Amino acid sequence: MSFASLGLMPALVRAVAEQGYAQPSPIQAQAIPAALRGQDILATAQTGSGKTAAYALPLMQALLSRRAEPHPRKTQALVLVPTRELAVQVGELLRALVPAVALPPRVALLFGGVSINPQLMGLRGGAEIVVATPGRLLDVIEHNALSLGQVQTLVLDEADRLLDLGFAEELARVLALLPAQRQLLLFSATFAPAVQELAQRLLKPDALRIALDEQTEAAPDIVQRAIAVDAPQRTQLLRHLIVSEAWPQVLVFVATQYATELVAHKLARVGLRAAPLHGELSQGARSEALAAFKAGELQVLVATDLAARGLHIARLPVVVNYDLPRAAADHTHRIGRTGRAGESGLAVSFVSAATEAHWRLIEKRCGLPRTPREQIAGFEPTEVATPEQAVGGVKSSTRKSKKDKLREAQAAEAAAAADTKPKR
Ligand code: AMP
Repeated sequence: MSFASLGLMPALVRAVAEQGYAQPSPIQAQAIPAALRGQDILATAQTGSGKTAAYALPLMQALLSRRAEPHPRKTQALVLVPTRELAVQVGELLRALVPAVALPPRVALLFGGVSINPQLMGLRGGAEIVVATPGRLLDVIEHNALSLGQVQTLVLDEADRLLDLGFAEELARVLALLPAQRQLLLFSATFAPAVQELAQRLLKPDALRIALDEQTEAAPDIVQRAIAVDAPQRTQLLRHLIVSEAWPQVLVFVATQYATELVAHKLARVGLRAAPLHGELSQGARSEALAAFKAGELQVLVATDLAARGLHIARLPVVVNYDLPRAAADHTHRIGRTGRAGESGLAVSFVSAATEAHWRLIEKRCGLPRTPREQIAGFEPTEVATPEQAVGGVKSSTRKSKKDKLREAQAAEAAAAADTKPKR
């Protein structure tokens, strides 16, 4: 199958060829024709399956074919993403796919943590496509620098996160600014049933649902290992594995911001090129760490779940769950950072007596065969689980982060303020 046979115009077919894409991935083959017809889409597809281009190409084609009058440039497509890093990554891919045509469409990026002024300046003269995190988008709109009144297509990338409670208030405000008639494209690797219900209310009745199962989609080739180890031995074991198994690069997930700093510091002290990544670092430090890791200058990136979703790190060979994820869906997102775009990958989870029951539930919910608990010589565990730990379990995926709690508090405050306003 070719990109041309999906109905893409020659300029876009050339643009994908320049990216080195030989043929459409399964998600692209299904989503592109439907999106070109203007249908709404709810797509569940594994990470690394080519989701970004699956919505980017139809967006681009729709606005190029409407393009009789290019000025002023009106924002016709809005792509919302949950994190700044993802905004940058999606923006880069969209810009790479802009075809070589006269007056090529402009892509603007809006995300928080950096000064708003350059972003406001960048919107002068307009941008047909805007990629944004919800909070910064609303700030920019409050500055009267952008109108969403002409948006024809809204994309929610990592849609389940954006439809989650933490973003509910911001998302409702954005939706209220869009025209009533607009195309909605929802993409994510995971959709919890409650989120599906919410999505249902936003999608048109004839929306196309795409759920690529493992038979049709080239399942990422990720080997999963679970290593039994006592918690205090984990950093030593990590170092041992990096060296003895000659891992060229590894993304390590830990539970807290503090742990990212601590583990990265300990690894750096023994001579590994390691750095932390978490949400309290300055945007400059976040971008720098990620760029250095992507460029292969860092060998180890120790991150919170900030790095779990959507990020594409080319040829990342290994992901480690130093701390297990809270929910099974987080596990899917975390390990999806490796084994991308047809490469193979390795996902290693450290399991202690205290977290054994939790890991068993993750295995069950992710449909994994029960992985044998490996033991590494010199790191054999000695701890035993307490009775409570032995019962254990996956914590609800709706457990809220600090940021989510803050957003909710702000939403409650706004609602209370609205309630106290005199009603006409
Ligand atoms: P995504 O799932 O959108 O994050 O894409 C993962 C990676 O796959 C990105 O580096 C894309 O550039 C690449 N990619 C997307 N579509 C294709 C394709 N049809 N052929 C080869 N690589 C692709």
